[in-house]
Amino acid sequence: MGIIVQKFGGTSVADLERIRRVAKRVALTRDQGHRVVVVVSAMAGETDRLLALAREACPEPSRRETDVLVSTGEQVTSALLALCLQGMGYPAVSLLGHQVQIYTDNRYSSAHIQAVAGDRLRKELDQGKIVVVAGFQGMDREGNITTLGRGGSDLTAVALAAYLEADLCEIYTDVEGVYTTDPGICPDARKIDRISYEEMLEMASQGAKVLQTRSVEFAMKYNVPIHVRSSFSDEEGTMVVPEDQEMERVVVSGIAFRTDEGKITIKKVPDRPGVAARIFGPLADEGINVDIIVQNVSEDGLADMTFTVPKGEMKRAMERVEQVAKELGAREVTWDDQIAKVSIIGVGMRTHAGVASRMFSALASEGINIQMISTSEIKISCVIESKYLELAVRVLHKAFRLGEPPSQEGGEASRGEGDE
Ligand code: ADP
Ligand code: ASP
Ligand code: MG
Repeated sequence: MGIIVQKFGGTSVADLERIRRVAKRVALTRDQGHRVVVVVSAMAGETDRLLALAREACPEPSRRETDVLVSTGEQVTSALLALCLQGMGYPAVSLLGHQVQIYTDNRYSSAHIQAVAGDRLRKELDQGKIVVVAGFQGMDREGNITTLGRGGSDLTAVALAAYLEADLCEIYTDVEGVYTTDPGICPDARKIDRISYEEMLEMASQGAKVLQTRSVEFAMKYNVPIHVRSSFSDEEGTMVVPEDQEMERVVVSGIAFRTDEGKITIKKVPDRPGVAARIFGPLADEGINVDIIVQNVSEDGLADMTFTVPKGEMKRAMERVEQVAKELGAREVTWDDQIAKVSIIGVGMRTHAGVASRMFSALASEGINIQMISTSEIKISCVIESKYLELAVRVLHKAFRLGEPPSQEGGEASRGEGDE
């Protein structure tokens, strides 16, 4: 009997009625002869509610206690789902992160999984139980509760699928799979049947929240096949699998975006060796992630340096940067949080030219100014003014013809090439 891991997100377990529906789906999988491990998120909105409560209790809540608090959301849904299954006559047991022995480091709120011991999980499975695991949580080596970062139940599911060498990891969510872009903002978005780990990783890290970035990294590392699908329909979803030649035919597979970063500009810093290290060293020491960096050097030997940081870290970053700017004799430091980053992603970019210019022309055709650009082998990102984000996504979706199914003909890519 093969093992299937099924993960249900917040909207799928938003109330008891929906948890009952989830129980029916799980029971069906079990009736088909599979051994089932279920991973659940907290009810939709619950994690946000708990985080707000922590801030209400204390303006700067300690990360340890915050993790103790937010992990309760998943405890509730795991127990409720186990109860629903038991009520239907199925043997089920709920297990929390520490009971499964999901060991993490001690980075509260964004802990990394180090090992899964899992003896209890196996024992319960061997006894014929459906095991319902509370997602998003683990424990450090001292037994403290940790959480795995927002969206972390995806990671719990993938990690357990890897540990159990499951046949499949199913991620049930509120859309029918991975789309060419967020269907919430682009009505033409189309469901992708198969996507490579690498593209999915870029999509996720550039903001497509349908899968948590680290869960994709984990799946890629341990070769866990993922099926992203809807818990509200029986439609086939999207398979996330290793890359194959067929995928390269498509130049651009998807568009992702994020609005959770702001930019900082240091004006007129001396253009000499060591300056970048002086600016970014203190940010790294503070654990602040810098994303895109752009430097313009003028003839007077002075440079402007602009970079993006998470909005939540903006205040801390500004404090450090202003200090260094003063030491370096820079003219001024400015910030802007009205920005968005839009990215096009596709493994086909490796073998096709002209993709960037098509992107820039499409944005220009709507009068959208590009403030910063960054590229990697399979991705191009542009930072723009946030008020143009939806327009940018739609115009790019059209320019790369993502609403049309990929051509079945061999040879060159058709979708993604656009009209010359
Ligand atoms: P869950 O609570 O099930 O984990 P999430 O809210 O984390 O669900 O992720 C699903 C959401 O991701 C969708 O409702 C959709 O708005 C958003 N999303 C963003 N980009 C994409 C994409 N490319 N394909 C599908 N969904 C996307
Ligand atoms: N409940 C957590 C969150 O909202 C984890 C998850 O849903 O995956 O981020
Ligand atoms: Mg999610």
